[in-house]
Amino acid sequence: MPLFSESSWIKTTCPYCGVGCGVEARVTTSNSIEVRGDQSHPANYGRLCSKGIALGDTVINTGRLLEPMIQQQAVSWNQALDKVAQGFSESIQNYGPDSVAFYVSGQLLTEDYYVANKLMKGYIGSGNIDTNSRLCMSSSVAGHKRAFGSDTVPNCYEDFEQADLILLVGSNLAWCHPVLYQRIKAAKAARPNLKVVVVDPRLTDSCDEADLHLAIQPGTDVLLFNGLLNYLAEHKHLNQTYIEAHTQGLSDALASARADTGEKGLNYPHLSRLTGLPIATLDSFYQWFAETEKVLSIYSQGVNQSSAGVDKVNSILNCHLATGRIGRKGCGPFSITGQPNAMGGREVGGLANMLAAHMEFDRPEHRQNLQQFWQTDHIATRPGLKAVELFDAVAKGKIKALWIMATNPVVSMPDANRVKTALEQCPLVVVSDCIADTDTTRCADILLPAQGWAEKDGTVTNSERRISRQRALIPSNGKAKADWWIICQVALRMGFVGFNFSSSADIFREYAALTGFRNEGKRDLDISPLSTISDEYYEQLLPQQWPLIVADTDISQKRFFSEGDFYTDNRKGNLIPVRFKPPQTQVSSSYPMVLNSGRIRDQWHTMTRTGLAPQLNGHRPEPMVSINPQDARCFELSDGDIAQLNSRWGQAKARILISSEMNPGQLFMPMHWTAVDSSEGKVCPLISPDVDPISGQPELKFTPVSIQAWAFRSEAMVISRTELDTKPFDYWVRQRIQQGFLYYLASSQEGLLVTQMKVMTGQHQGVRLQYENISEELNRYALIINKEIHHAWVVAPRVNQDKYAWLSTLLTEEANRDTQQAILSGEACGSLQAGKTVCACKQVGESSIVNCIREQSCSSTEEISLHTQAGTGCGSCIPELGRLLREYGSSIRLVS
Ligand code: SF4
Repeated sequence: MPLFSESSWIKTTCPYCGVGCGVEARVTTSNSIEVRGDQSHPANYGRLCSKGIALGDTVINTGRLLEPMIQQQAVSWNQALDKVAQGFSESIQNYGPDSVAFYVSGQLLTEDYYVANKLMKGYIGSGNIDTNSRLCMSSSVAGHKRAFGSDTVPNCYEDFEQADLILLVGSNLAWCHPVLYQRIKAAKAARPNLKVVVVDPRLTDSCDEADLHLAIQPGTDVLLFNGLLNYLAEHKHLNQTYIEAHTQGLSDALASARADTGEKGLNYPHLSRLTGLPIATLDSFYQWFAETEKVLSIYSQGVNQSSAGVDKVNSILNCHLATGRIGRKGCGPFSITGQPNAMGGREVGGLANMLAAHMEFDRPEHRQNLQQFWQTDHIATRPGLKAVELFDAVAKGKIKALWIMATNPVVSMPDANRVKTALEQCPLVVVSDCIADTDTTRCADILLPAQGWAEKDGTVTNSERRISRQRALIPSNGKAKADWWIICQVALRMGFVGFNFSSSADIFREYAALTGFRNEGKRDLDISPLSTISDEYYEQLLPQQWPLIVADTDISQKRFFSEGDFYTDNRKGNLIPVRFKPPQTQVSSSYPMVLNSGRIRDQWHTMTRTGLAPQLNGHRPEPMVSINPQDARCFELSDGDIAQLNSRWGQAKARILISSEMNPGQLFMPMHWTAVDSSEGKVCPLISPDVDPISGQPELKFTPVSIQAWAFRSEAMVISRTELDTKPFDYWVRQRIQQGFLYYLASSQEGLLVTQMKVMTGQHQGVRLQYENISEELNRYALIINKEIHHAWVVAPRVNQDKYAWLSTLLTEEANRDTQQAILSGEACGSLQAGKTVCACKQVGESSIVNCIREQSCSSTEEISLHTQAGTGCGSCIPELGRLLREYGSSIRLVS
């Protein structure tokens, strides 16, 4: 199949999540990027979610880091690279190899990751390279290695269509991996007997398809699955044939499960009390699992991001090993990775405690393999520092030179304020990024401009072990370079051989050869047939899974372990005895609420890319904290209040969202906001630095906090074609909209907002429209220049954001009668009436949907879609359409 079709669509891969969707993209005559799903890609068969659909809108020049900088002065590449090489070499010479570190990213391509790891572990001789994947799925890696002897994901996406029971454990798949959720939805529509069980403390959109929702008490997953193992044994559902032939450790694992959940049969009341689940719910779940052969357990960050994350993973794997339900069609445990190339990073040794090509530190023969293959005398002999330890070492002055690549730890690390302080004190901080202004680039001594998604060329591996090409669509912006090139240039300047690569294809061939080096079936990862491919073959490379027996998609191996043959010394799988351990830091009278953190539907990571696409910003425009109605009453909080949250580690402010989807005692706050786009919207300064003792993965889902209303005197919604100076405001959030910015401001000082806004607009000439109601302290204003709104605002003691949702559309409208009337009357009319965004793909607002439900007497989500187009893009908003229908419809008949 030709790569470049007549219409110049280029096949590439979405850079956001671990689903790894195939994308086709092309540059239009107007120099924008057009994107569509790749129908032939086995990860998504043409589907994309709202984030993938909006990819083209994130390819903009604004905000790009375009030149190398030293102490904020633009320099040449030679000057910057020399300075980095000199800084790292001097530190190694003076303080030894462990005085330097790399903190890299699941957004790097495999080729970038490979050379970064080769430089640190192969030539510098330290294990100090860790990655933001530590925050994402390192507990799964450790759990896999304990059970299977290797970091192997045994199943593939086809199993979504084959399973008869799908568990979603700690995974809001509908928002975090939407294309996989749509696969489940389609499978359930085709086979209504397919059951879906969701295990999650929150009632998320993923529960929309669920037959059973287990709103488990946070952190009690081990109890739930130990109870399941106990039940399976008690009710004689263990697969003795598989256990005897292919596993070991059942009796110890079962003894632990019984010690937790009942020595003489399952103690339902005890289990129910600790997990918070009704006995009938527990019993249904256990019975369904026991009686269904094809069970697929999909799990994600809700399991991994815990101080007991590895035990949680093994409690799930135990149940699959004990029933022999692994690596067969429709059954197995399935860890879904958060990041686009988390799996690629694991392949090439991106985590501090692993070596490249699935080799291990504790095996001398593996270290010898690498020493010989790389022709080096400096192989690291012990694991390096894991992310939290690594930044701790920076804070203590032990790491003196740190290179951060393609990630934003000042936002995403737990105890984030300490990370920021550590970087500010570190003698040398180098940051490679494609974005100029991030919380982390603000701490850098040297900035290196890296290519962005549309410029990069290499490979990524998704959650089902499928390697896909990411291809360049446009030339590099400014002086941006490929990450692999930057790393190799520094390595060469440090005097190391082995980095004379001329292309990403060159690096890929070497990496592929390493996977086969002295392998002979001893390691799961083997793509060595690709080690001799030509540049042309690499250019045309089709998506394919590993292990790869011959360089052809049809004969790669889809699944592992149906016949045992694990990668342990005796080739048997290990059932691991695990006991329930509560989260390390418990709630107290000072910090009585449990804070959970995670993603929202239309954003990714720290919004440095998704935040550039205005259509993705409307659904949840402001940092918010969800709270149960009962707790809101108890803390005297109302919808729309701004909450002040405090923990032992830090503080944050977020808008209150009262939701019965939360359980009492629990809060949820998204992870996306940063100091670049909000005053105090970052969640990670609050978060406990407690980690899992084996994986080092932080406890991002459980931090005890306090919550109270933050008293403000007045607030504002402001639109502006230019960025505002936010320094005068106590509270601010910036959102990118079409043609400009929308700000949410609040101040504890009387009159400050109106005064400041007038100062900011006073310098412009133009027509001014103003409505002022002094007794209500209400002020609406617009500045019109050349028939276009330049600034507009509403200031009041309380601003009803839903009512003023039309404000965000004014910059794209001519300042006509409708817009002027809206400013003066405060009421939207005509096309301004759409309301807050519900459907990001088709840009349909809540008011339009509610009007449609009422006017068309809609009784199904399909009817809403028919009339409004909402839900006809990626489909992620359909659960929300269902909620609006339940709230505003007269007769209820939901159709999925
Ligand atoms: Fe990208 Fe969405 Fe696919 Fe994830 S599910 S790879 S974010 S299009």
